[in-house]
Amino acid sequence: MKYVVVSGGVISGIGKGVLASSTGLLFKTLGLRVTSIKIDPYMNIDAGTMSPLEHGECFVLNDGGEVDLDLGNYERYLNVTLTKNHNITTGKIYSHVIERERNGDYLGKTVQVVPHITGAIQDWIERVAKIPVDDTGLEPEICIIELGGTVGDIESAPFVEALRQFQFRVGPENFALIHVSLVPVIHGEQKTKPTQAAIKDLRSLGLTPDMIACRCQEELEVATIEKIGMFCHVGPEQVIAVHDVNSTYHVPLLLIQQKIMKFLSKKLQIKDISQPAIIK
Ligand code: ADP
Repeated sequence: MKYVVVSGGVISGIGKGVLASSTGLLFKTLGLRVTSIKIDPYMNIDAGTMSPLEHGECFVLNDGGEVDLDLGNYERYLNVTLTKNHNITTGKIYSHVIERERNGDYLGKTVQVVPHITGAIQDWIERVAKIPVDDTGLEPEICIIELGGTVGDIESAPFVEALRQFQFRVGPENFALIHVSLVPVIHGEQKTKPTQAAIKDLRSLGLTPDMIACRCQEELEVATIEKIGMFCHVGPEQVIAVHDVNSTYHVPLLLIQQKIMKFLSKKLQIKDISQPAIIK
């Protein structure tokens, strides 16, 4: 199983969901079975009790799970049927760990965020990633994990730490990270400083971006891409530009044009993409 994590910096609502769905779609076009998990770092068990004014409409899954709208994006882009367990919230993880504590599963131990909450997050991801979600009824080969919120928030800290540990649990050839950032245009100039700061925050938490997806209202200039590569310590092929488009269904085309699968396939050691069955 290969895991592709999509996280975000600078501001929320930056387009992580659209980028995660689009990347999943590109893996699917290679003939791979793709699933997805959405992490929402709030204490609610699910989105069913949250005001649509604050959170947007909730999406109702086939099993009755009331979840974030992003899961609807995944179902449409990837043609999969997800379950309520594909949406992980802080509330679900804490209630799971507290239930186990009451059952006596940790007898003698002090139950802590690290390692118990972070361990439960990793176990949950591994368990749910294996659930068949498409018509084949087979275990998926690629799992796209979207981390909601912004890296650096108190809320997402246990999830960021869990993902930091997870990259070692599954091995570097099975883990890729795409960080979505913002490049604002101020007085006609594309500004890279917010992205530099976001990547610094990410690295300080032990996560290294394999790709930096830059959201910008206009197409990114070559000089901007080179500057981000240089100051964020990645190659220019690892910086992808995702400018505003009329329809979010154009985002997969933007990613194809920038050949992101070439880099991701190499990183994830997807050697012979014409024979995807060899990828476990
Ligand atoms: P996040 O997951 O970071 O909260 P979403 O993926 O839900 O963000 O996107 C937030 C909003 O921005 C949505 O309304 C989405 O349609 C829009 N959006 C995302 N990417 C683009 C893009 N490249 N061009 C135009 N609108 C976009």
